[in-house]
Amino acid sequence: MKTILTAILCSLALSMVAQTSKPVVIAHRGASGYLPEHTLEAKVLAHAMGADFLEQDVVLTKDDVPIVMHDTQLDTISDVAQRFPDRKRANGHYYALDFTLAEIKQLHANERMNPKTGRAVFPNRFPLGRSSFQIPTLEEELQLIQGLNKTCGRVAGIYPEIKQPGWHRKQGHDISRIVLPILRRYGYATKQDPCWIQCFEPDEVKRIRTELGWEGRLLLLLPPGWLTRANMAELAKVADGIGPELSAIVSGTSKADRKVTDFVKEAHAAKLSVHPYTLRADDLPKFADSMDDALEVLFTEAQIDGLFSDFPDMVVKWLSKHGAR
Ligand code: CA
Repeated sequence: MKTILTAILCSLALSMVAQTSKPVVIAHRGASGYLPEHTLEAKVLAHAMGADFLEQDVVLTKDDVPIVMHDTQLDTISDVAQRFPDRKRANGHYYALDFTLAEIKQLHANERMNPKTGRAVFPNRFPLGRSSFQIPTLEEELQLIQGLNKTCGRVAGIYPEIKQPGWHRKQGHDISRIVLPILRRYGYATKQDPCWIQCFEPDEVKRIRTELGWEGRLLLLLPPGWLTRANMAELAKVADGIGPELSAIVSGTSKADRKVTDFVKEAHAAKLSVHPYTLRADDLPKFADSMDDALEVLFTEAQIDGLFSDFPDMVVKWLSKHGAR
């Protein structure tokens, strides 16, 4: 009897492990393949599409309010050049850090465009200059997600990226020290909470864990072409995951010559989760000839633990079809 009970308990424990290790879908800047990136609308859609985590890129305003926006400059995703033409820096860019929140709230957010040509970066995405969108604050977005978690009965996690903390500090603003207390106030504090913090700067990742005492999950992003395999064991002392670009996982310039690298194996050996960026249906990696093909090689062959995508619905569907949801 005792043996049977032990066997049942063991299999239960195993199935729970399998459950928690299912790959996660991270909506990159929200469902940004369908709506302007980082608008609340793009986050609502990503939530409805069943993404596990919704990404926030976080930068500061002049009055130290964290807002959700990919670049430190406002040029490519808003009408700042029309509204405040005399507020650019000597390099021609308009920085969020030079505008108060009240000023930023006067801007219209738009689909990503090239400010030099005025054309959309992804021509088949949401039309430029249509409808009405704003740049949200981090708190507005957390309230939106938690509200949806309540009304939809499904918890989507958050995945904030601390943008350019070194640059922010040089400008006199300590972004991590401002963002962390907000996350804690909204209930994101431990590794059991549905939250990953991500950052491209290794020193800041270490600082977030040590000096700033963050006890939640933490991921180091690797800039394109930059591999720190030798440092994975070292990284694992402070971080829970690593986020390289897709080409670090699968090399090659066509389906015919692609090869799964040792990256995931080495990260897993160091007990790091691997969440690469960014899979886009309208800008496929060279190693794949379709979204399904890319998903197959990344999840089935390379065994990644999660994926940033502008098209979270396609990733959710593929994983469901393959029994991983
Ligand atoms: Ca990001």
